[in-house]
Amino acid sequence: MLTSKKYNLIIIGGGALGTFHAYHALRRGLSVLLIEKDNTPSQATVRNFGQVVPSGQEGKWWEYGRNGVEIYKEIQAKTNISVRENGSIYLASNEGELQLINELHEIYKEKEYASHLLDKEACLAKVDRLSEKYCLGGLHFPQELTVEPRQMIQKVIDFLIHDNQLDFLHTTLVKHCDIHDGNCEVIDSKGNKYISERVVLCSGSEFKTLFPDIFANSGLKLCKLQMMRTVPMPDVNLEGAILTGLTVRRYEAFHACPSYEKVYAENPKPELQKYGIHILFKQGIDKSIIIGDSHEYADVNATESLDFGINTYLNDLILDEAKQILDLPTWQMESYWAGYYASHPKGIFEHTIANKIFITTGIGGKGMTTSAGYAKAHIEEMYG
Ligand SMILES: Cc1cc2nc3c(=O)[nH]c(=O)nc-3n(C[C@H](O)[C@H](O)[C@H](O)COP(=O)(O)OP(=O)(O)OC[C@H]3O[C@@H](n4cnc5c(N)ncnc54)[C@H](O)[C@@H]3O)c2cc1C
Repeated sequence: MLTSKKYNLIIIGGGALGTFHAYHALRRGLSVLLIEKDNTPSQATVRNFGQVVPSGQEGKWWEYGRNGVEIYKEIQAKTNISVRENGSIYLASNEGELQLINELHEIYKEKEYASHLLDKEACLAKVDRLSEKYCLGGLHFPQELTVEPRQMIQKVIDFLIHDNQLDFLHTTLVKHCDIHDGNCEVIDSKGNKYISERVVLCSGSEFKTLFPDIFANSGLKLCKLQMMRTVPMPDVNLEGAILTGLTVRRYEAFHACPSYEKVYAENPKPELQKYGIHILFKQGIDKSIIIGDSHEYADVNATESLDFGINTYLNDLILDEAKQILDLPTWQMESYWAGYYASHPKGIFEHTIANKIFITTGIGGKGMTTSAGYAKAHIEEMYG
């Protein structure tokens, strides 16, 4: 079957990257078809913490994150997509980390990006159940956001369908994409054909269905992250995104701090750092707390080398460290899962075919923060 409508743009992949490309294209008045293989997006975009923290990014990714915050707020003002402006806080657990948060505060002062240093007492007053032994001080960003990862993206898609004339096909696997007579032809697994002037492919960590040869030579990596969520805790009130000492050693923003190299080299918890473990907490609207995470990597051509099981040793490492930070009334978990994202040494992988097919994936661990802002810039670059 050939659909009669010719679109300005077809977007393949309904995760954060694809959906925010649709948002910006629709705002320019383009006709857009978004195609998603699952019933509802089910990959990285729904498996994360839902922390929108530009403060952790550097350079253009910080800019994309800042724009992203405004875009989230803009949509939230029109319909509830689960955005909360409840801030983020980095907690320092030793003198080196304290030094880094002080230095980052100075960097953001110059950039006029609001942040507040908190001493130990102020952190204890601000962060419910924070262990007195763990924390020496914190850096707070009141303007940053959280979203509910299991809800947000489908809510944005529903908003775009109902208020912005988005055509959305779910449960539709695209298995072929090509250029014929100057048009893009997209064919799904049932043989249906869709036509557009241009295509954006945001297929996340799916490298084998479309353009496998391009992905094989892309330099992309697949990252597996282990996560867990507690039972709801009505008596605990954790506000916003909680990021901790090992995050201070990991996030890109801190690389610009004068003491970064020295502090990073101290490596106080080698076993945790070996598995890329840093501890983040985010309490959801239902009062459960998402805790994670670990990072294990595989080359794009050897993704099966990442075991499909949940490694209990890594979960124990995560939990032992988490218990040093918060004194929760229970550590009973409701679920454990693994999430996967694609990452690229350049921050994202972009490949364009004949100025018609735009492949973009590999935004890494920053996609909930930066996809909205990056997609805006990318659509502007494509359409001028
Ligand atoms: C555990 C975890 C925690 C994270 N925490 C955070 C966080 O707190 N803050 C933050 O900023 N970032 C976070 N991230 C990163 C963020 O989730 C990702 O960067 C982002 O979701 C990537 O979005 P994406 O659209 O590129 O990929 P995906 O979400 O993987 O979406 C790709 C979509 O394309 C679809 N698709 C693929 N191939 C086809 C095809 N052929 N036909 C049709 N559809 C197709 C897939 O079904 C999928 O829905 C986290 C990631 C993980 C895994």
